[in-house]
Amino acid sequence: MSEVTAHRAAILHCLRDPSDDKDPIAAGSVEYFEDGLLVVADGYVDRVGPAEKLLENLPSNVEVIDHGDKLIIPGLIDCHVHYPQIDIIASYGERLLDWLEKYAYPAERKFADSEHAKEVAEFFVQELLRNGTTTACVFATVHPQSVDAIFEAASKYGMRLIAGKVLMDKNCPEDLRDTPETGYEQSKQLIEKWHGRDRLSYAVTPRFAITSSEEQLREAGRLLQEYPDVYLHTHLAENEEEVAQVARQFPWSSSYLDVYERFGLVRERSVFAHCIHMHDDDRKLMARKGAAMAFCPSSNLFLGSGLFDLAAARRCGVRVGAGSDVGGGTGLNMLATLADGYKVAQLSKQCLSPFKSFYLATLGAAQALRIDSSIGNISEGKEADFLLIDPARTAITERRWRRSSDIAAKLFALTMLGQYEVVADTWLKGCRQRRAAMSDSGELVREVL
Ligand SMILES: [Zn+2]
Repeated sequence: MSEVTAHRAAILHCLRDPSDDKDPIAAGSVEYFEDGLLVVADGYVDRVGPAEKLLENLPSNVEVIDHGDKLIIPGLIDCHVHYPQIDIIASYGERLLDWLEKYAYPAERKFADSEHAKEVAEFFVQELLRNGTTTACVFATVHPQSVDAIFEAASKYGMRLIAGKVLMDKNCPEDLRDTPETGYEQSKQLIEKWHGRDRLSYAVTPRFAITSSEEQLREAGRLLQEYPDVYLHTHLAENEEEVAQVARQFPWSSSYLDVYERFGLVRERSVFAHCIHMHDDDRKLMARKGAAMAFCPSSNLFLGSGLFDLAAARRCGVRVGAGSDVGGGTGLNMLATLADGYKVAQLSKQCLSPFKSFYLATLGAAQALRIDSSIGNISEGKEADFLLIDPARTAITERRWRRSSDIAAKLFALTMLGQYEVVADTWLKGCRQRRAAMSDSGELVREVL
């Protein structure tokens, strides 16, 4: 017997990229029901539409949960994040290469201890859910046990997650290195163990070109040939010093991307974080190959890396999803990440509309990760990952929400204010993950996963 539940609330989601639409709701790229009904059957979206119409045909034994005037949106997707760096988030004062040495590597060294890895992974997954992130593409560390820990934690909650062991055999601390051979073997074992299990997928994860020998990049390419449906997840052109170092280290290369391309790493399901300091030729190559960019505005501002060119990515036809890049980024909250994305666009004399922004962390991110047939919006047949947004959870969001005339203005304010407290509940495949109760004073008094 199937388990069916219906949720009544306002509902908002993207049906396709709204970038070209002046009025995305009228054009049909964004769907909005002020009084909507979402029917979930056995973890999948069964129907979505206007409540009045759908309630007519709903069997009388189906439970209808009335969420009042709160808002249902799809679960948010983080295309690039480092779970081992959650404990060094908000560390002062460096740019990328020094920041790695001073903060990231010491934090990652601790993951040799699998108990430490488990404790951090559990906290990280809970924190994602608290922030309404239901899918993430995650860096672990060089230690295979760090990958076991994050997949175990995600699997416990039934969460969709992509992760992989970092490959790193040079230009980093000795005790964080693998070799081309051990990196290959350990990755292969992890792929066999985890890829395709529950909602988990593996990503072959060279940190970036600087920390891998050519032999290691070649072995990464071999893994992709042997397992064509795994991901490739790495960094590209984040920082100018990094780009210069790559040019010195690979003198034969015509660009940073060319290094990855030489070893067969640019293809579908390749996710490149940052992509700031690059030319259109490379953007076009990424588009032709079906690779994706993770736009990480919070990190790019925090580390002073530069301004991602959204318009150029769009002009060249590259898939783009948003990423928090914690610990370079300053929070896991994708609303706050999108708020920084708007500011990056402003500094570049570009415009990031509320719906386009929303798309970058929902359907656009799912398309970048090539899982849009499963998630990314609340369309019939998709896995029911969704959030209940309650603007009344913070005084300022509630106040601003009430004074906004339409859903575009409300969504924009919600994004810019970027307060995670508004995520009242998170569902993974139809299962509620978070319950929180408010006291009479409106204070958050209980929060249990
Ligand atoms: Zn990163």
